[in-house]
This record gives sequence, C-alpha cells and structure tokens, in this order.
Amino acid sequence: MKKQENEKKQKEKSEIGGAACSDKKCHLHGDLKIRGRTFEGRVTKKLPTRVTIELERRVYSRKFERYFKSKTKIHAHLAECMEKQINIGDLIKIQECRPLSKIIHFTVIKKIKNAGER
Ligand SMILES: [Zn+2]
Repeated sequence: MKKQENEKKQKEKSEIGGAACSDKKCHLHGDLKIRGRTFEGRVTKKLPTRVTIELERRVYSRKFERYFKSKTKIHAHLAECMEKQINIGDLIKIQECRPLSKIIHFTVIKKIKNAGER
C-alpha cells in the first residue's frame, strides 16, 4: 500500500516537470498529507508561501425567507513549486490539511483556470 502511494507521488512529480521543491509543507514533495474538505475559489491575495482565496456561498435568512450571498475568506499554503503558476484572480482548488499555522489549515492542490478565463 505504501509503495503504491510512493509511486503515485513520483508520477505526480514528473507531471509537474520535476520542479525542485524543498518545501516540507508541500503535499507533493514534502511530507504533508492532505485530507478533508476541498474548496474552489478565486485568489484575492498572494503572499510568499501563502494565498488568500474567497468563495461565495448562499446563506438562507429565516427572517427574510430568502437567500443572501455571503463571502468566506480562506488562507491556504502555497508550495514553492506552484508559486510561479498561481497569480491573483486565478481559480484554484484547495484541500484541507493539518494546521500549518494559526490561520492556515488548507493547501493549494491545483490551478483550475487563469485569471482571465471564465
Ligand atoms: Zn513541491
């Protein structure tokens, strides 16, 4: 079972183009395990090793008996090997992992669309 997992990791590594990454908190090259919920959202802020994404969700108000839009911000860890690919406005996918700091418990797993695309 573990051997298979390693092979899978190797395969994913080569798909990226063998970008060297010394980030221990990288889910492909480091020893970070990803599990839990996944979310998709647009990048609103980019900082070294970290991004902020915003997602819209609908919240039902019982008082007004209708849905309202509500925005949620999530901080996610951005691994070294993906830092160049991801820019502000991009649609990305994040997945839950162990808490990496007080506010970060998600990591970027892939890019879905560029900033301009719909
Ligand atoms: Zn990496």
